[in-house]
Amino acid sequence: MKILVINAGSSSLKYQLIDMEGEVTVAKGVCERIGIDGVFTHKALGQVFKKEVAMPDHTAAFEQVKLALTEGEGKVIDDLSEVSAIGHRAVQGGSKYDRSVRIDADVVQAIRDYAPLAPLHNPATVLGIEAATAAFGTDIPQAAVFDTAFHQTMPEVAYLWGLPYEYYKKYGVRRYGYHGTSHRFVSARCCELLGKPDGKGTRIITCHLGNGSSIAAIKDGKVIDTTMGMTPLDGFLMGTRCGTLDPSVVTFLMDKEGLSPAEMDAIMNKKSGMLGVSGVSSDDRDIAAAMEQGNERAKLAWDMRSYQILKYIGGYAAALGGLDAIVFTAGIGENQDVLRAELMDKLAYLGVKPDYEANKVHGQEAEISTADSAVRVFVIPTNEELVIARDTKALI
Ligand code: ADP
Repeated sequence: MKILVINAGSSSLKYQLIDMEGEVTVAKGVCERIGIDGVFTHKALGQVFKKEVAMPDHTAAFEQVKLALTEGEGKVIDDLSEVSAIGHRAVQGGSKYDRSVRIDADVVQAIRDYAPLAPLHNPATVLGIEAATAAFGTDIPQAAVFDTAFHQTMPEVAYLWGLPYEYYKKYGVRRYGYHGTSHRFVSARCCELLGKPDGKGTRIITCHLGNGSSIAAIKDGKVIDTTMGMTPLDGFLMGTRCGTLDPSVVTFLMDKEGLSPAEMDAIMNKKSGMLGVSGVSSDDRDIAAAMEQGNERAKLAWDMRSYQILKYIGGYAAALGGLDAIVFTAGIGENQDVLRAELMDKLAYLGVKPDYEANKVHGQEAEISTADSAVRVFVIPTNEELVIARDTKALI
């Protein structure tokens, strides 16, 4: 059985064709600059095929995906009918979806209805679903796998803020959390590594550190708290996002600089974080390189992030009532051994003992704490596409 996984953004569409027999990726690629000019990259059979091609909308992008899968040198299937189902990464599922669902008209409407909570992502997901339907017809089963779903187990005390309760009721203002598919995947794997595959009796903190970053506290296999909020802006310093701050700063700056809500939003989402503080880059490799050359603001951004992560880990250890394991994942978590070592050193008070040799690992699963560490620390590469494919298979 082959499943096509789709991750649609406003001007991009990523795809991955996964053969569930052995769970291997047969082909993957990305349509970029949709609606602008169009760049298409297809990877299959050990080769990369890249071309500039007009893609005025997501339906046109899907046509390119279809062509690449079924024709030419990167062809991996004879006919589209070999694709059994399509799984979509959906972002915001509100309080309604605590798990993945098979897509029907009601689900599409719900994704639309939650667009105010994820204005960049949810409309793009709908475009992806519509384009998939146009390309594959209405008969192919499609599933939606929500970023927010895994966090739906959070209790009220964790997901509400101290605002008038009516705003929660009226607009759904609350913490939803994101990267749920990743936290779910790596925490499930961590439970296996702890020898407790059902999660019972485990207290885990998962650190998804990428361009966007979030941390989750997971007890008995269920999320009890997470750093991202109503939107992915909350939490700690990310590539270009500021993370949590005194909310008055927002109104203060809007007033001083004469900024509209959209302009303020753009500053907090695109010009802040590691980029905003360092003035160097949002990319961690650039930050690390600048630090090595003595750039003080790059070092400040790095130190601020480490400090904030440590505060979350300490807070979550308290919320969990103790800690069994910490997991690092995503681009930075899987690769940045210097940051991992620094964090582990500073967590000695919890009984963390780093295995510096094992910590040299990049992008591979490993236990990076010593055998006598009171808290076990793992690097577990995330695989959101595989979760989407597995959920889709289960649903059909
Ligand atoms: P996202 O999926 O949120 O766009 P990723 O999970 O791919 O992001 O993470 C991107 C981040 O990971 C970038 O800041 C990048 O610098 C960092 N990264 C990727 N590879 C490495 C590496 N080998 N060493 C250090 N950082 C890395």
